[in-house]
Amino acid sequence: MLAFAEPLSLIPTKGFSFKNSKVLNWAYCDSSKPGRSTTSERWVLHSTMEYARSVIARTGVGKLSIETLNEVAEEMFQEFQDLGLGVSKPFFSKAHRWGSAFPAESRAKEEKCLWEREKRLAICGDFCVSPSVEGAICSGLAAASKLVEILSCL
Ligand SMILES: Cc1cc2nc3c(=O)[nH]c(=O)nc-3n(C[C@H](O)[C@H](O)[C@H](O)COP(=O)(O)OP(=O)(O)OC[C@H]3O[C@@H](n4cnc5c(N)ncnc54)[C@H](O)[C@@H]3O)c2cc1C
Repeated sequence: MLAFAEPLSLIPTKGFSFKNSKVLNWAYCDSSKPGRSTTSERWVLHSTMEYARSVIARTGVGKLSIETLNEVAEEMFQEFQDLGLGVSKPFFSKAHRWGSAFPAESRAKEEKCLWEREKRLAICGDFCVSPSVEGAICSGLAAASKLVEILSCL
């Protein structure tokens, strides 16, 4: 997470994904979420799986030292700044490792939920689609529609 004293006004959106970066996958403006403090502008950056793998290859899977986390925060910030969208120096930056954040595969990419018609059992969650609130909601909606479908046949 990066915190800036002033808004990054040249960035025209509050969340976006990166297409050609080896380091960054996703960026969103945490302070634009409802109910968050607006005293500073805070951005959360997610790394690519490729970059996370390279850190793990260098450091192992154990708890990371403060020095390594600072290095990672700096590398991710540099990539964000290289966008060329007037990203100023943050007054706060901190990296952390978020275990299990990138499942290798979605469990129900097509159907978006697990569905046992005979048992009338729908199982939903981010693991079915993608590791985000959006993934969890899509999966929940798919499970609800399976149940509505079966109820309407009764
Ligand atoms: C630190 C962190 C920050 C995140 N930030 C973001 C973000 O900014 N934007 C974004 O899109 N996503 C973010 N995510 C990911 C997002 O939170 C998840 O993708 C989403 O919450 C998954 O929803 P879910 O309903 O599938 O699972 P969960 O939210 O994990 O819900 C599962 C529920 O099941 C309950 N449960 C588990 N086992 C049992 C049991 N045996 N019996 C009964 N209940 C049980 C749990 O208590 C929990 O309430 C973040 C995740 C983390 C960890």
